Amino acid sequence: MIGRHAVVLGAGFAGLLAARVLAGAYERVTLIERDPFEPVESDGDGAAGPRRGLPQAHHAHTLLSRGLVELERLFPGLSADLAVDGAVVADPGSDLTLILGGHRLARAPLGRSTLQVTRSRLDDHLRGRVVGLPGIELITGRDVVGLTPTTIGRRCAGVRVVGRAPGSPVETVPADLVVDATGRGSRLDRWLAAEWRTTIPADRLAVDVRYASRSSRLPDALPSGALGALIAPTAECPYGLALLAVEGGRHLVTTVGVGGHRPARDETGLRELIRRIAPADLAAALLAGRPAGPIKGYRIPAVRRLHYARAQRLPTGVIAIGDALCGLNPVYAQGLTVAALHAVALAGALAGDPETLAGRYFRAAAAVTEAPWAMAVGSDLAQPYLRAERTLGSRLTGALVGRIQRVAAADPEVARRFVRVMALLDPPSELTRPTLLRRLLRTPTELSELRSPGAQLSSDKSAEVGVVRR
Ligand SMILES: Cc1cc2nc3c(=O)[nH]c(=O)nc-3n(C[C@H](O)[C@H](O)[C@H](O)COP(=O)(O)OP(=O)(O)OC[C@H]3O[C@@H](n4cnc5c(N)ncnc54)[C@H](O)[C@@H]3O)c2cc1C
Repeated sequence: MIGRHAVVLGAGFAGLLAARVLAGAYERVTLIERDPFEPVESDGDGAAGPRRGLPQAHHAHTLLSRGLVELERLFPGLSADLAVDGAVVADPGSDLTLILGGHRLARAPLGRSTLQVTRSRLDDHLRGRVVGLPGIELITGRDVVGLTPTTIGRRCAGVRVVGRAPGSPVETVPADLVVDATGRGSRLDRWLAAEWRTTIPADRLAVDVRYASRSSRLPDALPSGALGALIAPTAECPYGLALLAVEGGRHLVTTVGVGGHRPARDETGLRELIRRIAPADLAAALLAGRPAGPIKGYRIPAVRRLHYARAQRLPTGVIAIGDALCGLNPVYAQGLTVAALHAVALAGALAGDPETLAGRYFRAAAAVTEAPWAMAVGSDLAQPYLRAERTLGSRLTGALVGRIQRVAAADPEVARRFVRVMALLDPPSELTRPTLLRRLLRTPTELSELRSPGAQLSSDKSAEVGVVRR
């Protein structure tokens, strides 16, 4: 044991993984969650809808293959349990129709399956396992409102919480370690500024991504027996689609608009959008379906990555995990996998002096966040919709990725290598290996490919800097 009490703020995906890792290292681990865990509404067809604090659960969540590898390490047997509970086992390389950069990628198995499951079902399984661990307590219906400092030294002594009933008093919960897992809306940077005048450097990019989703019951299988489809926005079309077969015989249909473009929130508009972005065979299969719930929207104005590892005057005893540390653009489906990688980083940081745990953890978490963040921001900047400055490096990367996607339409080996990198199974450096570059050169280049994405914006002097560093 390295301490008596760890407190985890938020019992969402990252909070549950953090609690799993801390169980056994601290005598007690308390998860504090503002939501009660009861279904709050029907999602259609009588299925329980997501809880209030998890509005993103209405939308299709792709768990990248790397994410499942890490989850299975943390929770042995989880995949089998989820599969028994209806999760759909799929190899993204061969079971999904992938249309990226306007090119339908050749089917090529990755050799690593993943699970297609609603976010609520995934979290329910994790929570069931975590609350069964010795020393774990889950407190619901409490809002964390701040940190408590020690009277001497720069140390976080615990948190302040308040019940959700009107007039509830503020209580303090002492802790040796506080883990912020409150998600994208984390206020940890403000709490640190208020108590210790700490400033956290951050990267921020205004992506203005909008979602509209509902579930559907399809009368027939998808074309070629696919278990889902991902269609990414392109320079020509700012809309995309994620379609996943999930538990209960339903398909989650998620449409997305980037750079402020709004996907329709009504049935007629949704059908029009499907016709516009999906190839005819896929659109026909989807349009034959029956809606199995209401259309729900979601907006992500900006993505941000906080650099706690670089902060001056950081107190000991407090860390952040998951979206609280880095809220990525969900279009690239990396959030769950990155949260799992943070949890693995936390497990590694537990070895050593507990007083310096935060520094060890933040450095390790920053290292595993770097590639997903760079890939996501690079892909965002490859679209012309963001008013942002493009560097030469980002233009070259955009051109390389565009070329890979084009060649991957006919070359299964290129498709396999590219999708493995997207699934975070391999590092981005795999895309510049000579063996891959040779395959790219075999296919003749079209002039249109040499035009760098976003070129029309790069000369716009009023463009804001792509990633704003504070
Ligand atoms: C529309 C959309 C689609 C997405 N699609 C994908 C995808 O396909 N693949 C993927 O990997 N990721 C996807 N993501 C990202 C993914 O949802 C997040 O990365 C993931 O939820 C992060 O988990 P978390 O635990 O950090 O945060 P959350 O899941 O948001 O959990 C935070 C928890 O903290 C609680 N909480 C918040 N504030 C307080 C407080 N003050 N006190 C007490 N409790 C509090 C909340 O109730 C919640 O339970 C998507 C996100 C969105 C918005």
